Amino acid sequence: MVYRDFQDLKLSALGMGAMRLPVIDGDDARIDEAAAEQMVAYAMEHGVNYYDTAWGYHNGNSELVMGKALSKYPRDKFYLATKFPGYDLSNMPKVKEIFEKQLEKCQVEYFDFYLFHNVCEMNIDAYLDEKYGIFEYLMEQKKNGRIRHLGFSAHGSYDVMKRFLDAYGEHMEFCQIQLNYIDWTFQDAKAKVELLKEHNIPVWVMEPLRGGKLATLPEKETAALKALRPDEDIPAWAFRFLQSIPEVTMVLSGMSNVEQMKANIETFETDKPLNEKEMRALLSIADGMLNGTLPCTACHYCVSHCPKGLDIPNLLELYNEHSFTGGGFIAPMALSAVPEEKWPSACIGCRSCEKVCPQQIKISEAMADFAAKLKG
Ligand code: SF4
Ligand code: SF4
Repeated sequence: MVYRDFQDLKLSALGMGAMRLPVIDGDDARIDEAAAEQMVAYAMEHGVNYYDTAWGYHNGNSELVMGKALSKYPRDKFYLATKFPGYDLSNMPKVKEIFEKQLEKCQVEYFDFYLFHNVCEMNIDAYLDEKYGIFEYLMEQKKNGRIRHLGFSAHGSYDVMKRFLDAYGEHMEFCQIQLNYIDWTFQDAKAKVELLKEHNIPVWVMEPLRGGKLATLPEKETAALKALRPDEDIPAWAFRFLQSIPEVTMVLSGMSNVEQMKANIETFETDKPLNEKEMRALLSIADGMLNGTLPCTACHYCVSHCPKGLDIPNLLELYNEHSFTGGGFIAPMALSAVPEEKWPSACIGCRSCEKVCPQQIKISEAMADFAAKLKG
C-alpha cells in the first residue's frame, strides 16, 4: 500500500468509502453486515487505514455498521472520518445532538477526521450563519480532542467553495471534492484543486470512478490505453490519473464487494503517475466522453437578453451535469437554492438569448429538456 504524509500521520493513499456497502435485496438501508465486515477485514489486512462514513449513508446505517466492524481493531490502527449532515437544513440547529449520537453510533470517543458535509449552494448561508454555531461547536470539539482533524466536503461550485474558504479556510485541514479525469474540466475540479492549493489544504478525492462510469470504456478507448500501458486495467487509469496530482493525499473509493476492493488495493500497491503522453491521451478520452454536452463558455452575453432573468450559464452547467450523469442529486440540490421563478421551467422559449449566443446553443430547447428531466 502506498502511504501519504498528512501532518504527522501516514495515511493509506486509498481509503474505504462506506457509502456503497453491500446490501440485502437491493435495499440501500439494509447493509449486509457480514459482507461489510469481511471488506473491512480485507482492507485492514492490506494496509488501508482510512475509513470514511457519514450520518446519511445507507439511511443512517453506515456509521453503525462501520463502527461495529472497526470496534474489533485497536483504536490506533485506523482513522475514522464522518461528517456533519448539513445537506439537510433541518439538521443545522442540531450539531451537538448529532455529533454526540455519531460518537455513540461509531463506538468511538473521537473522530480522526470530521467534515462539514457537502458545502454547496443550498447550505452555504446556513453553514456560515453564526446563529447555528456549527463551526464554533466543531472547533470546540477539536480543542477537547474529540475531533482530531477538521475539514469539509464540497459538491458546490468554485464560488461557493471560495466563500467557505474565505470564512473558515485557515481552520480547514483537508477538503474532499469530486475529482476524476472527467470532472477535471467538467466540474471545474482543476480550478478547485488550485484554489485549495492557495490555502495549503490537501485534497481528498471522492468519486474517483465517477460512480463507476470510468470502470469501463468503449472498445476504441480501451485499446488506446492498452497500447500505452498493456498491464493496466481501465479502472486503474482513473487512480493513476489521481496519483499524478501532487495535491491529492487521499482517494476514497466506495467499494461494494471484496473483488472491487482487491483490484483497487492492488492498484495502490504502486505509485505510477501518468507521463505527459499518457495524461494527454486520457484527457482526450475525457473530452470525447463529454462530446454531446453543451459548449457553453459562460461568456454571459445571453443573460441580459432573458426577459425572465434566468442565470443561463449556470443552468446550462447544471443541465450538462444532469444529462451526463443521467440524473443524480447535484443539479436538483443546486437548484433548491434558486427561487422557482428562476428554474429552467420558467423559460418561455422566446429565444432572445439564442440570437446573441456565440456558441449557437439552442438554449430554449435545453431549458425545456432540463425542466422535463427534473420533473421526471
Ligand atoms: S428562451 Fe428562455 S432562457 Fe432564452 S431568453 Fe427566452 S426565456 Fe430566457
Ligand atoms: S451566450 Fe451562449 S456561451 Fe455565452 S453564456 Fe450564454 S449560453 Fe453560454
